[in-house]
Amino acid sequence: MTAAPREGRAALPAVDAILRSAGGARLIAQFGRTLVLDAVRAVLAMRRESGEAGSVDTVIAEAAAALEKLMQPSQRQVFNLTGTVLHTNLGRAPLPEEAIEAAAAAMRAPSSLEYDLATGRRGERDDHISGWLVRLTGAPAALAVNNNAGALVLALNTLADGRETIVSRGELIEIGGSFRLPDIMARAGTRLREVGTTNRTHLADFAAAIGPETGLILKAHTSNYAIEGFTAAVPAAKLAGLAREHGVPFIEDLGSGSLVDLDIWGLPHEPTVAEALAQGADLVTFSGDKLLGGPQAGLVVGHADLVARLAKNPLKRALRLDKIRLAALEAVLRLYADPDRLAQRLPTLRLLARPQSEIAALAERLLPAVQRALAGLAEAGIAETRSQIGSGALPVSLLPSAALVLRPMGAGKSGGAVEALASTLRHLPTPVIGRIEAGKVVLDLRCLEDEAGFLDQLAELRAGLLR
Ligand SMILES: *Cc1c(COP(=O)(O)O)cnc(C)c1O
Repeated sequence: MTAAPREGRAALPAVDAILRSAGGARLIAQFGRTLVLDAVRAVLAMRRESGEAGSVDTVIAEAAAALEKLMQPSQRQVFNLTGTVLHTNLGRAPLPEEAIEAAAAAMRAPSSLEYDLATGRRGERDDHISGWLVRLTGAPAALAVNNNAGALVLALNTLADGRETIVSRGELIEIGGSFRLPDIMARAGTRLREVGTTNRTHLADFAAAIGPETGLILKAHTSNYAIEGFTAAVPAAKLAGLAREHGVPFIEDLGSGSLVDLDIWGLPHEPTVAEALAQGADLVTFSGDKLLGGPQAGLVVGHADLVARLAKNPLKRALRLDKIRLAALEAVLRLYADPDRLAQRLPTLRLLARPQSEIAALAERLLPAVQRALAGLAEAGIAETRSQIGSGALPVSLLPSAALVLRPMGAGKSGGAVEALASTLRHLPTPVIGRIEAGKVVLDLRCLEDEAGFLDQLAELRAGLLR
């Protein structure tokens, strides 16, 4: 029923004929009529523009390809072989199964999110996690918000709105571009009162700055850089004493803030939340998806009266956690109650504590298959490497690891061949994200747990490189 093409127009089938064809019916069954109609119209318009003719089958095939692409999830699962365990751009902490199940259950049906089942009255959403945080940190009270940046905004705004917040010049940190402490403070309505110098700040600097305008004293954990040489910082306990003397709150932003002593698993020491409290912080803020290994969240623990003031700030409502993340966070905190099995059950800790010998053995197992897949195209070998924790935790402490190192054959100095190899890896069904180093693609295997899933894609990798 295709009408004869008019003068100067490409011969194209009518939309109706395409939709009514067997191929059209198959596409509609898969994607629904609305999307198929849009896609078919787009293909026809493109061909009309370019003057290219086409049959029902070619239009269907093009529409199908466009729809496959459109309907592919935008946020995709990837293999994080960058060597950075808590990679902010790759979603930070992978969650334990217990948390995944709890989140799914919270999504599926109504829950007792803000409902006290004992009394039948309204409940508090943070009650699901505050009991655990109190138990695990020794703090009298706790609350949770969207992320640690949110926790800081809430604390600064509640306690120092319109007044000064005193911070050491050496701690005016930037974390990943979009988080700069001075900007956060300005938006929270508090005036920044910098004291000391970049490399040295003394207790006397703080003491001289304290006055009627002081809202609070803030200490920020400068974990993503180190100032070395002629340096001095005021210990938290001294700052806490000074703050108490003047009746102003002292807040410590720990950033990563671990709930357990990482030394137990042979990892470098990162200050724990309990330590910060023991040194006298009135409030401690930290992230849920850094070393804690949970979902994105900002956690605040400390004095009950201060936590209660934060909870009453209208900003708390704007920053609160949803039921899905609260369920996941609660499940993660429950795992901490059994520290003996924590390193097996909490993926973040399992990956951080993974022994180099185990990673090296994995590299040995994978190498022959990788070499076969790359035969004639690239050389593959094994190298020792060092992973990092990421997300601002202990950047200088690197964890011994093992990597597959891929070098394209005949790679020139321009690096085009290495870029192409990295790009092919990124375009696999489950993208493989490595890092480029000195003309090679380095795949740090610390975070590779799905060995079979990785091997399954090697044929596709070869096909991709040959295209
Ligand atoms: C990471 C970090 C933050 C920001 O935490 P988010 O949870 O990413 O909002 C704030 N302060 C410090 C010291 C950090 O390390």
